[in-house]
Amino acid sequence: MIIFDLICLDANHRFEGWFGSSQDYADQHDRGLLDCPVCGSKNITKAAMAPNLGRKGNQAPVSTKPTEAGNGPHAEPVTSKVPVPAEYKELIGKLAKAQAKMLANSEWVGDRFAARARDIHYGDADEKPIHGTASQEEVADLAEEGIAALPLPLPVLPPESKN
Ligand SMILES: [Zn+2]
Repeated sequence: MIIFDLICLDANHRFEGWFGSSQDYADQHDRGLLDCPVCGSKNITKAAMAPNLGRKGNQAPVSTKPTEAGNGPHAEPVTSKVPVPAEYKELIGKLAKAQAKMLANSEWVGDRFAARARDIHYGDADEKPIHGTASQEEVADLAEEGIAALPLPLPVLPPESKN
């Protein structure tokens, strides 16, 4: 049994993987069978071998069971101390521009989004693009009524908070 410290390259999550041999790891890695228990990324690489590798004695190793770790409370992927590649910055910049373009003619309705989307859908308000905030329940309810709500890739500052 061999333990590898693994890292997902998408969000820099560290976790342990247990393998029969380093060849076993290589096989699973090559076949894309490894994924991050936190974010599900398939972009996995080996960090370093765990220091207790090859430990002898009756001390049973404690497995972290990576597959179960993903059932914990939802955590936003965050990263620090990671150099941000220029492509990433460029991508976010493009995304921000695309989103601004998409919302240029759209009216900010804040937390009244669900109500306004319903009014428009049922013809009680003029058909026009709107954007705002909605809870997951509201979005689910809207979807049940056949009203599509598209999540925005970037957070939007409410107009009243802009100076
Ligand atoms: Zn991850």
